[in-house]
Amino acid sequence: MIRPIVTWDLPALRRRSLPVPDVTRDIRHLVADMFDTLQEAGGVGLSAIQVGVPLRVAVLAIDGHRLALINPHVLVRNRRRVKGVEGCLSLPGIVRKVKRPYDMIVSFMDTDGQAFQIRADGLQARVIGHEMDHMDGKLIVDY
Ligand code: ZN
Repeated sequence: MIRPIVTWDLPALRRRSLPVPDVTRDIRHLVADMFDTLQEAGGVGLSAIQVGVPLRVAVLAIDGHRLALINPHVLVRNRRRVKGVEGCLSLPGIVRKVKRPYDMIVSFMDTDGQAFQIRADGLQARVIGHEMDHMDGKLIVDY
């Protein structure tokens, strides 16, 4: 089910998202809705705060590859950073050049509550960094 995306409501978008204590059926519904919403919007990443839910949940869809991240945590980030142009579904019409780590190792839970670690680089590392900023209330206009 497509949910409305919060746009330009800066007080709402600045809220800090809380960790998910337990991956329940409600969380799985939220993730499914976020994938629907992301697909409809034609984006590559979406955080729960962008659909008004202040929980540390994000979905990515890059080149047809879908990934849900629950409670993501960066374990190691490359000190080498690369500049790239980013937009945000919550700030339509705005683009910013943002420096992000070239690659990083991220831990997270999936929708079965199973823990994973992945090495992300390129666009995937950029999108994960962008979505994790959302979880801390940070936006591309802050760069
Ligand atoms: Zn965004």
